[in-house]
Amino acid sequence: MNGAPQVIRNAKASALLTLEWPDGQRSELSHAGLRAACPCSRCRAARQRGAIGAVAHGVVLTAVQAQGYGVQLVFSDGHDRGIYPWQYLRELGQRAGRDDKTLIFQASS
Ligand SMILES: [Zn+2]
Repeated sequence: MNGAPQVIRNAKASALLTLEWPDGQRSELSHAGLRAACPCSRCRAARQRGAIGAVAHGVVLTAVQAQGYGVQLVFSDGHDRGIYPWQYLRELGQRAGRDDKTLIFQASS
């Protein structure tokens, strides 16, 4: 049991990635929010500099590749360096449901 979700659904039309966890919880994460939260070293460094405006408008998730402990997400802006562990995706989902709606849950329009 590695905490992997039972269902992963990538809806390109609504730009939402939906994850259903073994305990019945569900996370809905916007593609733009996921891109902004990319955990690769380059994006983390950019966020630490405060450069979080780097997400291209209308960016969508084009591929989800299982990596055992998480997923590698490939975005339409060509960025594919981020591997998102299950635990991190769960945390993003919890933030999205709470106080970080602008960044994570709402796709910008
Ligand atoms: Zn990145």
